[in-house]
Amino acid sequence: MTPSVDTAFDQAHLWHPYTSTTHPLPCYPVVAAEGCELILEDGRRLVDGMASWWCAIHGYNVPELNQAITDQASRMSHVMFGGITHAPAVELGKRLVQLTPAPLNKVFLADSGSVSVEVALKMALQYWQGRGRPEKCRLASFRHGYHGDTLGAMSVCDPVNGMHRLFASVLPKSVFLDALPTGFDRPVTQSDIDALDQQLARHADELAAVIVEPVVQGAGGMRIYNPQWLKVLRNLCDQHKILLIFDEIATGFGRTGRLFALEHADVIPDILCLGKALTGGTMTLAATLATDEVADGVCASEAGVFMHGPTFMGNPLACAVAAAAIDLLTQKPWQQRVEAIEQQLLEELMPLAQIDGVADVRVLGAIGVMEMKEPVVVAEVQKQLVDAGVWIRPFGKLVYIMPPYVITTEQLSRLTSAMRLLAESTSA
Ligand SMILES: *Cc1c(COP(=O)(O)O)cnc(C)c1O
Repeated sequence: MTPSVDTAFDQAHLWHPYTSTTHPLPCYPVVAAEGCELILEDGRRLVDGMASWWCAIHGYNVPELNQAITDQASRMSHVMFGGITHAPAVELGKRLVQLTPAPLNKVFLADSGSVSVEVALKMALQYWQGRGRPEKCRLASFRHGYHGDTLGAMSVCDPVNGMHRLFASVLPKSVFLDALPTGFDRPVTQSDIDALDQQLARHADELAAVIVEPVVQGAGGMRIYNPQWLKVLRNLCDQHKILLIFDEIATGFGRTGRLFALEHADVIPDILCLGKALTGGTMTLAATLATDEVADGVCASEAGVFMHGPTFMGNPLACAVAAAAIDLLTQKPWQQRVEAIEQQLLEELMPLAQIDGVADVRVLGAIGVMEMKEPVVVAEVQKQLVDAGVWIRPFGKLVYIMPPYVITTEQLSRLTSAMRLLAESTSA
């Protein structure tokens, strides 16, 4: 029997993401999830448009993933990674090295996306120490970027919507680069390139790395930009001797129509962060991949080693299910599925741009975004969406979906219809 959800205890004691405990927002008790549906305690089934924040690309209650977890749990759920290794970590490592561009050969298994970003930033700092340039110790990122909630990751998030004011006293002072112009097909102009070049040139002597979300800036605004910018950025970073970090925590594993968003421009970073869909949305795990050059530099630093080692590093249960999730992806025609989702999103969402309250609609791969002119009142709108039988969680002016790749045509239409309804009712 499924235990019932004590929502009163939840309200009184549990923090939810970005919420108040004195004025808690309503929460919907979910008792199970299956395919592309979340099942509420009252029996209602909601079509899931969020894939649990980009993670559940294969949907829920997936037999192959469940099997990987139970098989591994029956052998060992966890064992320390210091001085010990095991097949799940090695098998996952092999897949990651094989799937990512050739020079990314060294894998650090972290326990969440934010931690993998911390790891990437620390690698960049230790690299320059190892190369005899310790003054290269600042980080640069783009406005509207999002890289996680821990202090280091937060320091490279957008300075306005990224909470900097609240923690200014302890945050390292990063360099914030002007936001890249949006539009996947918008031409990259020489004057835009020169402007970026000037910003990097001004700080080149003190910059260790630039961190960027390739092609799609996620939580910082769901902004899509021309992949050619990645080439520009690679050239400028090489010219100014700055490491380039790609944060593919949201875009990795097929979401933008390519296995990794960097493939849209065939650009190879020095360090790559992966997370979210890595375990198919079953467990928390992330990975930071680095080139041999970066790893060599790190290990030539005074410490002689990379100074990071979380308790749950390389957790066998998470690694086993991650390897299974990758196999499930690569053995299935995921690219056709994502293309079909993109096609349907284009057909069903683009017309919504005509509606009065809608500022913009954009689609890339299995990502559909409707930007409203005014911020959405989440608590009200959430109920309306749930009553329409869908799970979509808007934030600010953004109503967006990134469903599991296994979503059916009918289910996807339920999501886009609910978005239309929402747009029409808020414009009425
Ligand atoms: C979600 C996200 C993170 C942070 O990952 P967590 O697992 O939430 O710590 C970092 N970067 C990007 C681009 C993300 O989307």
